[in-house]
This record gives sequence, C-alpha cells and structure tokens, in this order.
Amino acid sequence: MNRIIRTAAIFAALSAAFLCTAAAQQPDFSKVEIKVTKVSGNIYMLEGQGGNIAASVGEDGIVIVDDEFAPLAEKIQAALKNLAITDKPVRFVINTHYHGDHTGGNVPFATSGSTLIAQDNVRKRLASGGTAGNGGSVKMEVKPAEKAALPIITFEHDVTVHLNGEDIRALHFPSGHTDGDAIIFFPKNNVVHMGDDFVRYGFPFIDVAGGGSVQGMIDGVEKAAAQLPADVKVIPGHGALSNLDDVRDYIKMLKETSAVVQKALDAHKTLDQMKQEKILAPWAKWSNDFVSQDVFIETLYNSLTNHPGQFVKHN
Ligand SMILES: [Zn+2]
Repeated sequence: MNRIIRTAAIFAALSAAFLCTAAAQQPDFSKVEIKVTKVSGNIYMLEGQGGNIAASVGEDGIVIVDDEFAPLAEKIQAALKNLAITDKPVRFVINTHYHGDHTGGNVPFATSGSTLIAQDNVRKRLASGGTAGNGGSVKMEVKPAEKAALPIITFEHDVTVHLNGEDIRALHFPSGHTDGDAIIFFPKNNVVHMGDDFVRYGFPFIDVAGGGSVQGMIDGVEKAAAQLPADVKVIPGHGALSNLDDVRDYIKMLKETSAVVQKALDAHKTLDQMKQEKILAPWAKWSNDFVSQDVFIETLYNSLTNHPGQFVKHN
C-alpha cells in the first residue's frame, strides 16, 4: 500500500473505532486479509486492519498483544492456527492501550476463553468511555465497552507472562500516547511491541484528552529504547516492522517539533499564529491524512501547555 492509502486506512480504522458515524465510513472487514510475518524465533506479527498484533506461538499456547477489531477475530484465530505450531488456544491477550483499533477484538477473544491483561487505566477508560482527542480539532467519541471487553488482570507498573519459555513483560510508561500505555518486551526473541507510543504513519496521534502527552511519549520511548539491544526487532503500533534507528528518528522528530512549538510559546505566539507561520514545515514529510502539520501543532501546543481538552464521561 502506498503512503496515502495506508494513512487513509488508519484514519478509517480509527474513525470506525471511535466515531458513531454512518455505516458507509466503516471499513469493509470482510475484505481484510490477515498478513502474518515471522519476526524472530516463535514471535509473529499480524497485520489486518487496525493496530499491529504480536503473537508468541509455542508449546504452551498463544499470547497475543492487541486484537484489532471484533469482526476480524475469527480471521486472526484462523491465521494463528494456520501456522500449525500448536493446537492450544490464545491464552492471553495483552492490550497496549484502550483504543478500539487495538482492543476491538477483546469481546470475541474473551468469549472464546482468552484472559485479557492491561494497565489499570486501560480498564478504567474502556469501562467509562468518553471523548478521545488531541485537545483540539481531533475528537472521537468512545462508547463505554461491554463487560466482556474489560481486562480481567490489570497492573499498575508491570506484569510478566511466563509462557513458551519466555518472560513476556508488559511495562507501563505513563502519559505517552494515552495514560495507560504498555510496551511489551519479548527478551528471549529480541522483539518489542511498542503500541502507539511508536507508529510509522508519520506525526503520531497523541490522545491528550485520554491522558497522553508528547513529553511522556518522548520519555517513554527513550527509556524503552535505552534498554533494548541494538539489533532488536520493533513492532510499531501501526506500520512496518522497524528497528532501533527508526525509533531514534522518530524520537528526534518528536524532540525537534516540541522544541519549535515550545520556542513559539515562549515568544507568546498563539496557536493560530503557529499554524499560519507553518512552523512545522521542515518536518512536512511526517504529515499524514490523520495528523497533518496543523493537527500536530495543536497536539504539541495542548500537550506543552497542559491543556488536555475534556475526556467527557458518558452517563
Ligand atoms: Zn491508539
């Protein structure tokens, strides 16, 4: 897929996940195929619609990280079975954060016997619903999830799943993409799933209304990268399998663009002035259909001024 189609697909996926819009805007899940890539050892990456899935597949069964959308659960199960490595089920699903394009399959997986695991705030936000967004023009309604979608096991700081001979570790990094992000480490196989703290579609969506911040995202991704071997394979929340250089480029962009917006803030410029002056023009190649330069200026502005907008609760 070329860049435009890919970003459009992400936008469609995110819209479908969040918005109560007309059926016409829903992606046609019947046409989605699940692509499976062997990452390393017994770790696989699954791509369909929505966030990337990591899977540990072995003699003890299967652990997956994130589960895309409910209508794709059967196809995901079939793709895992097709590997012909184990007849054992998906025993655990670890959610990297609460967004619907990463947790949409929670109900079918839980119903078929998987145990859902996530950081405390993922369960809270799934249960309450609200309005996600960048504190500015991006606003997405999130309906309260049904009970079966809620993680059964939650953790504050970290949790380890000991399966398939590996200590699969989920570690919470506060206030990055959301306030419930976990980065998942597969140390034996030298693989990491970074959730939406690291994405490949360009400027990232940061859910400032959902407790995220660019400062936390930089801090979290830097800390995670610091403890990873140079040749680690990085599964991003969205986009192609990556390496540590890709992560470093991304951190560099986040730091540079934050510094530019901070400088404009220090000069008492308004949000409109920053947009008119196109202060992120040197980073134009990171702009995408979902997060344009203007949307990212808003994101950084709201993040750096601690202006999260509202995470509105449903009744
Ligand atoms: Zn997300």
